[in-house]
Amino acid sequence: MSTIVFIDTRGDKLPKAALEAVTFASQLAGGPVTAVTFGPAQGLEALGAQGAGKVVVARGVNALDGQQLTKLVTSVAEAEGAKTIVCVHDGTGKAVAPRVAARLKAAHVPGAIAAPEDGKVKRNVFSGKAQAWVELRSDRRVLSLMPNSIAPANGEGTATVEEFSGDLGAARVTVKEVRKAGAGIPLPEAEIVVSGGRGMKGPEHWGPIEELAQVLGAATACSRPVADMDWRPHHEHVGQTGVAIRPNCYIAIGISGAIQHLAGVNQSKVIAVINKDPEAPFFKAADYGIVGDAFEVLPKLIEAAKKLRSEA
Ligand SMILES: Cc1cc2nc3c(=O)[nH]c(=O)nc-3n(C[C@H](O)[C@H](O)[C@H](O)COP(=O)(O)OP(=O)(O)OC[C@H]3O[C@@H](n4cnc5c(N)ncnc54)[C@H](O)[C@@H]3O)c2cc1C
Repeated sequence: MSTIVFIDTRGDKLPKAALEAVTFASQLAGGPVTAVTFGPAQGLEALGAQGAGKVVVARGVNALDGQQLTKLVTSVAEAEGAKTIVCVHDGTGKAVAPRVAARLKAAHVPGAIAAPEDGKVKRNVFSGKAQAWVELRSDRRVLSLMPNSIAPANGEGTATVEEFSGDLGAARVTVKEVRKAGAGIPLPEAEIVVSGGRGMKGPEHWGPIEELAQVLGAATACSRPVADMDWRPHHEHVGQTGVAIRPNCYIAIGISGAIQHLAGVNQSKVIAVINKDPEAPFFKAADYGIVGDAFEVLPKLIEAAKKLRSEA
């Protein structure tokens, strides 16, 4: 096999971004690929449905140790004679893909959003404001796939699972403590995101945003000033200097739509904006807009969402 795909499969179920990356790798290879992962991952056989023929899993590797993960990926790539290495363009993938590319002297395309065509890979640049087609001139290539760029395949098949038995050497970093940012749906994985800005007036008004998110099965997010003022935790801050997301639906409430905010959300499939100012710049980027006071609109929206859910 000449294509491997590195995925992070921590957690109870296989993350959507991992399923997308395996699908992408298998489409590129035109057949089964080898997936490489780590940790106490379970149910990895199921990756056969996305095109993995084999899954190599390394136990006991720290998920925050990018250097050891790089060794893992490069040693599997070398053992398999892989010419193409696919990663996910998320925190773990970003820590690994450039290092793997440097070690293997491979071309590296971060944040690919489509399969290569005529040797060129499409990727977002300028925070999603433009797209570039990058030509790959190296025999070996490392592509990291932007989450939510392609639909995961849902085929048949079961992958064989092998334990990684190579030597990764001693870890160079020690993780002393890990504090979980939140218990809800992780922002980068959320299909729907309900987000609030300074127009919500204060942290005491976040109840309706959380309720709407809960009814829709969504994650919550916020603009940067909201996090800076400690109305919401920093891990919810989206935008140029925060998390960049691409959900199927982004609902922005009381957010003006400054360019730095849009940079992190403008790749969302559908954008809905609630703002009392009809001139708010966000409306230009919106698919749906409600001009109105969030404190009047939100209760009606929650009621409608509840009704829709109960009828579904
Ligand atoms: C280098 C740099 C990086 C930055 N990075 C980021 C970033 O990553 N993310 C980010 O978000 N920002 C970022 N910013 C800040 C950005 O420029 C904006 O200042 C910020 O996004 C504005 O946040 P906001 O829309 O919540 O607040 P405001 O600009 O104050 O907008 C509030 C909006 O709420 C509306 N509103 C008020 N009351 C109501 C109501 N009752 N009902 C409905 N609507 C109402 C108003 O009409 C207004 O449009 C950055 C800035 C700089 C300089």
